[in-house]
Amino acid sequence: MISFYPGPSRVYDDIPKYVKEAHASGILSMNHRSPEFMTLMKRTVTLLRQKLRIPKDYTILFTSSATECWEVVTQSWITNKSFHLYNGAFGQKWYEYTNKLKPGATALPFGRETTLNPGQALFEGSENVICITQNETSNGTQVSNEIIRSIRTGSSQHLIAVDVTSSLAGIKLDFTAADIWLASVQKCFGLPAGLGIMICSPAAITRARAINNRQFYNSAAVMADMMLKWQTSCTPNVLGIYLLMRVMEKVKPIGSIHKITETRYRDWINIVGKQSKLRHLIRNEAVRSLTVLPLEADEKTIRKVKNSAKANGFLLGDGYGDLKPTTLRIANFPAITDREVKALMKFLRKH
Ligand SMILES: *Cc1c(COP(=O)(O)O)cnc(C)c1O
Repeated sequence: MISFYPGPSRVYDDIPKYVKEAHASGILSMNHRSPEFMTLMKRTVTLLRQKLRIPKDYTILFTSSATECWEVVTQSWITNKSFHLYNGAFGQKWYEYTNKLKPGATALPFGRETTLNPGQALFEGSENVICITQNETSNGTQVSNEIIRSIRTGSSQHLIAVDVTSSLAGIKLDFTAADIWLASVQKCFGLPAGLGIMICSPAAITRARAINNRQFYNSAAVMADMMLKWQTSCTPNVLGIYLLMRVMEKVKPIGSIHKITETRYRDWINIVGKQSKLRHLIRNEAVRSLTVLPLEADEKTIRKVKNSAKANGFLLGDGYGDLKPTTLRIANFPAITDREVKALMKFLRKH
């Protein structure tokens, strides 16, 4: 079965080999304060920086999931208010999660066909946190680097946190345009679940240290201090970090990956455009995600296409939440091979 599910998703074929290697190397039984572990951490962070073009002065931190990153953002950076710009289920969940811990959260929902107009947004106060879901996995929309940059320009007194769970390592991101970029590895990284990543600007680290909340399971100030020694506050997912290092060694730089993602996206749009019953859920081309393709049809067609795909060896993503009965989703993630993409395209052409 070839998985086109947008998370957890197809993992790289080399994963079993890397797992064996990790075991043979002894790293899995090494203390997380040992020089061997610190070398692994340093190399992983260095490779992430190189391959994803993360600025030198940004700090990379590890958690266990993107959801945990939402929690760290809330506890370590939100003192008063947070503003949540979202148009789908993940952005809404992030808002709800935050609001339970810090009731000053403000929901700023927008339509999924809407191109955000940053000029219209006014974020009151100062030193608050603006939360944006860059790639909304539930409905296949995205917020462009340019829009994030202009939100930043208009609200430099706030920190900007961006959920890039289903786009980090799949497309080029302009890290200097925001302060906290969060994700997990079971989507575009092609890795098994169990590791979250936060990429933090110098301003984010300075603010976390000034707020200095250190009482939580994972507090950003503590994590940043530990990372200065290439360590983590608790025993981390060493296998996950090892696998991330090996995958980062192997993948092309993000510029090349972005080109592949974009080319495949265009090919998908072409194929979908020729379908009689299925169509892209999002009409506004400017907001379509490059990494998650949501296709819409009547319930019967969706059921039929998914079942028939399964019988032919393709696992397609279910629609998410309210969209479940009338949509399906196709992941356009780097770990999926050209051959697999072509095979699914051929299958869809015949339908
Ligand atoms: C998958 C996903 C999450 C949740 O990720 P976990 O690692 O399961 O916590 C959060 N946000 C977005 C946009 C996602 O696609």
